[in-house]
Order: sequence, then structure tokens, then C-alpha cells
Amino acid sequence: MILGPHDVKGDVRRSADVAIIGSGAGGGPIARELAGEGYSVVVLEEGGYFTREDFNLNPAESYMRMYRDAGQTITLGVPFVLLPMGKTVGGTTTVNSGTALRVLRPVLKKWHLTHGLTDITEEELNLIYGHLEEFLFVKRADPEVAGKVAGTFLAGAEKLGLSSGWLPRNAKECEGFGSCVFGCPSGSKQSVDVSFIPDAVRSGADIYTRCRADGVKTAGGRATGVTGFFIDPMTGKPTGQRIEVEARVTVLAAGAVFSPYFLLKQGLANSSGQVGKNLQIHPATSTIALMGEPLGPPKGIPQSCYVDEFKGEGIMLEGGTVPPEVHSLALPFAGKRNASLMASYPNMGIFGGMVSESDSWGRVVDLRRPGYRPGILYMLRGKDVDKARMATALMAEVWFAAGAKRVFTPIAGHYELSGPRDLRRLERSRVRATDILAMSAYHPLGTCRMGSDPEWSVVRHTCESWDVEGLYVCDGSVIPSSPGVNPQLTIMALAMRCAGFIDDRLSGS
Ligand SMILES: Cc1cc2nc3c(=O)[nH]c(=O)nc-3n(C[C@H](O)[C@H](O)[C@H](O)COP(=O)(O)OP(=O)(O)OC[C@H]3O[C@@H](n4cnc5c(N)ncnc54)[C@H](O)[C@@H]3O)c2cc1C
Repeated sequence: MILGPHDVKGDVRRSADVAIIGSGAGGGPIARELAGEGYSVVVLEEGGYFTREDFNLNPAESYMRMYRDAGQTITLGVPFVLLPMGKTVGGTTTVNSGTALRVLRPVLKKWHLTHGLTDITEEELNLIYGHLEEFLFVKRADPEVAGKVAGTFLAGAEKLGLSSGWLPRNAKECEGFGSCVFGCPSGSKQSVDVSFIPDAVRSGADIYTRCRADGVKTAGGRATGVTGFFIDPMTGKPTGQRIEVEARVTVLAAGAVFSPYFLLKQGLANSSGQVGKNLQIHPATSTIALMGEPLGPPKGIPQSCYVDEFKGEGIMLEGGTVPPEVHSLALPFAGKRNASLMASYPNMGIFGGMVSESDSWGRVVDLRRPGYRPGILYMLRGKDVDKARMATALMAEVWFAAGAKRVFTPIAGHYELSGPRDLRRLERSRVRATDILAMSAYHPLGTCRMGSDPEWSVVRHTCESWDVEGLYVCDGSVIPSSPGVNPQLTIMALAMRCAGFIDDRLSGS
């Protein structure tokens, strides 16, 4: 059952085989697999439960209801980076763009060589990916519904001879409403709330929503369950009701920002000192092009195509279209200039460029602030600054090849490019991190990384904590380094693997 604070009377005390904190890309698949095996599963999810009837294409409402900090979470450092995260049943997958890619092979090889994760073989991972792709109806975006912005950008890339194409997506019969990141109104996107969670519930799992876990119970070095409390949806304050679940296995799947914060707050599973460290986020810049003819945004698939010519160098371009409210914020101008450009919104297209980090530094810390508010420290550094500039210039080059009149970028001194001359100036300039005034990131990873050495990692390849028996961490935090592509499919694959190991433990095999 999916239960909210109003469905329970007083405090909840119960036992289960498995207690899971968080219902996103990590928690959801584990709940489905283990409930499907006949284990009793209880999930605590801090966010509320919404269905396609609630997904009303209204960005402001969606940010308020389904995102943490109304989608305005910011990292501390240089530059400030907007880091939106979902807080709802299905986690961030409910509000993500649906791109479903496998980890790049050289990255997996790096995990083998640098992190000692040879137990995660390419063969095994490919089998799980294959299974997931079938279950989630993964297929390439349909050019018929992708929208004109995507087609125009791809035409520019083809003119330049760049490797490009349509992205694989976990969407079944997508109708191109252009609003994946506010919840899919047609129910076509196979996010965790419409795929794994309903199956888990059918198999008997209970999902407590608006229910924040605040502790992992331990005894004699073993995890024995979770504690938490319910939150009133209207006031955002505790209702006074508590929950306590005795469990044979506990899974922490609160995401790469909140899982380490949770452990740091409790002083748990950190003998390596690695909890919260190694944060990577795939920082991204964006460009907006003004074309000579209408492109008809936002209709289409918000993220339907890619240019991956430079993926080996850590640059991946992905995009399509966003609604006017979001588009206006991505312009580098405010006031009248912003308003006059927005009058040309139908003629504008937007695209994003994502960087796989090699030099940047990030960490989640407990600043001991009241409430549930971690510090997310992040510095864009070294080669990654240059990669951000290169990604921006590459997008502009593609836009001009596609016939753009002007291209707008977030880089100070290069806000408006009127043609190839301005573009060359950007390509030759020495951009500093402080010059990039609007960066965003969507993939926090790495803060409880897995590895074969307990001194350098937080969990084993099975996702079980090195320190606390029976405590598994399984979400974006265990990914050892940037996968180079969007991570949801890899997080789900590791979660399926983790469910197998939990099954072995519970069945005594
Ligand atoms: C706008 C946007 C677009 C994206 N697009 C893509 C894409 O196209 N493809 C892709 O691969 N990735 C995409 N991503 C990223 C992807 O969705 C995430 O990497 C993935 O969902 C992370 O999975 P997770 O399990 O680590 O965390 P989440 O999916 O975020 O789940 C964590 C859950 O834990 C809950 N939680 C946290 N603390 C507690 C607590 N104490 N008690 C109870 N519950 C708690 C949270 O509310 C949340 O629901 C996108 C992200 C964003 C923001």
C-alpha cells in the first residue's frame, strides 16, 4: 500500500525483512525485486505521492510539490551550481528527462582498475541493462514527436560531421508534452513511480510517504532497522507521529546528497572517512539560439537528442526544449532585455552541454544546521572549466551551422554571440570558473563510493557497508566516478544487483 500521514493513526511500530529509505532509482528497484521474491518490504519516502492526474504542466507548482527546496538547491563554491533533486515517490526519476544510457565502457574499465570493482563484470552489467531496457520500454526518441528544436540542432551537427543521434529513453509511446521534468502527464515515461513501485506494492510492499527517516537502528555492529517521523503536507512540519521498523536488512537509498548527510549526522559507516567526499555532479552549461523561423517550443521531447563526438574528452551535449518560465531564467539578461527576447520565444531553441569531471572538487558535509539541510560544497576546477567553455562553444558552433542568427551563453564577456567572429573569440578566451554565471547539474554521484578497499570506499561491490553488517547503501552515492552519461540506468542496474545479494543473505544461500 502507499500510505500518507493521514492514513496512519498514532505511531507506527512494525517489523519487516527489508526497510528501505528512499524510493528513487536506487530504492525503487530493490523494493520491487525483494517484494517480488516474497519478502516483507517497507519503504520510507520523505516526499509525497503524485500521479499523472497531478502532473499539470505547471512548472512552479511542480517545483514546489515534487522537488527539494522547490528545485532551487545550490552548491556552495565557485561557481554556484543549481542542483535540483526530486523529493517524491519515484525520487528524482519522477521528474527527470528519461534518458536511459549504459555506462561508457572505458568508465567501467576504470572502475575495475582504479576501484578494484572487477566483480562487476561487463557481461553481468549488460545482462541487467538488457533486462531493465525491456522492463522500462527503452527505445530511441521518435523524431516525429521530438519537436523542431531537436531536429534543427541535429541538422546543424550533421552539417559539421559530428557524431550525433536520438537518445534512448524509458518512455512508452511518448506524446511529446515537453514536460518530463514536471512529471509525465501521459504516464508514458517509465519512471520508478510508474514502473518499479506499483509492482512492489502489488507484491505487498508498504510505502510510507511524507515520512522522513532519521536513524538507522544498530545493535552489536549490525543494522536492525530504521526510525523516522511523518511530515504534514500542508505545513511541512512534523505531525508528531513516529515510525519504527525492525528489519533484517536496511537499505539507505536517499540519493548522493542525502545518503552521506544521513550517515554523517548519525556518525555511521565512516571508518574510511570517505562518506560525503568525492562528490561529482556532471556540471552543465546551456546555450540559447535565436533562429530566423519558429521552432515551436516547448512541444516535443525536452531531452531527445545528443552530440557525443567529444564524449571521450568528457563532453556530452543533450537537449531539446523547455517551457517559457524555465527558458526565461536561462537567458543571460534580466528586465526589459529578457522580456524583449522572450517575445521571440517561439523562434528560440535551448541545448545543454554536460561535463564529466576530472579535476573538480566536491563534498557533502553536515554543517550542523537545524533541519535536514546538508552543505553541498563544489569547486569547478582545472580542465573541467575548459571543458565547460568547450561544450558551450561547440553548442554555439552547431547552432550557427543550423542557421542561428544569435546565440546566448552564460559566460561573462560572451553573453551574446552574433556570428563566427564572436564564436572564435569565445574559443580563444581564457575562461575562469567565476566567469560561468549560470551552471546547473542533475547527477550528484560518488559520495559513498563503492570499492574493494575499505580504507578508500564506503561500501563493497555488493553495496553493503564495510562497517555495519546488514546496512546497504544503494543510490547515486555509490557510483565510484562520473559514468560519462546520464546515470539512472546504471543506478538501477546496481540496485538490481544489490537486491540479488540481499536475497542471498535473507535466504541464507
Ligand atoms: C531535472 C532532472 C533531469 C534528469 N534527467 C535524467 C535523465 O534524463 N537520465 C538520467 O539517467 N538521469 C537523469 N537525472 C538524474 C537521475 O534522475 C538521478 O541520478 C537518479 O534519480 C538518482 O537516483 P537516487 O536513487 O540516487 O536518488 P533519487 O532518485 O533522488 O531518490 C532519493 C529519494 O530519497 C528520498 N529521501 C532523501 N532523504 C530521505 C529520508 N531521510 N527519509 C526518506 N526519504 C528520503 C528523496 O525524497 C528521494 O525521493 C535527472 C535529474 C534531474 C534533477
